[in-house]
Amino acid sequence: MNKIEHIGIAVKNLKDSNELFSKLFGEPHYKIEEVKTEGVNTSFFKIGNNKIELLEATNEASPIAKFIDKKGEGIHHIAFDVSDIEAEIKRLQNEGFKVLNDVPKKGADNKLVAFLHPKSSNGVLIELCQEIKE
Ligand code: ZN
Repeated sequence: MNKIEHIGIAVKNLKDSNELFSKLFGEPHYKIEEVKTEGVNTSFFKIGNNKIELLEATNEASPIAKFIDKKGEGIHHIAFDVSDIEAEIKRLQNEGFKVLNDVPKKGADNKLVAFLHPKSSNGVLIELCQEIKE
């Protein structure tokens, strides 16, 4: 793994949270993107070399809606940048981690992504992401 790519935070209302986090960081978000397959609206903030992703559910079946029901708003996942997501998925499966996506899928912010089940990583939902190069 190369570095932390971003930290994802589950929020109830993206508009309100965009305002809140803009105040916190002193800068507005640089993009908003809907990921229909995940049932989420996302927004991204840049702080130096780091990124924060806010996630709002767009329907009740969304993983973010379920997360907020169970745990409330807060840190949802940590995403790590990888150079070869398929190799990394195989490596982690061999190490005994439960990978939720055998085949990476398209996520927000021009990335191929795969998630590890939090049960196999001390309760932390881990996202692997690899930049899609055109
Ligand atoms: Zn993410």
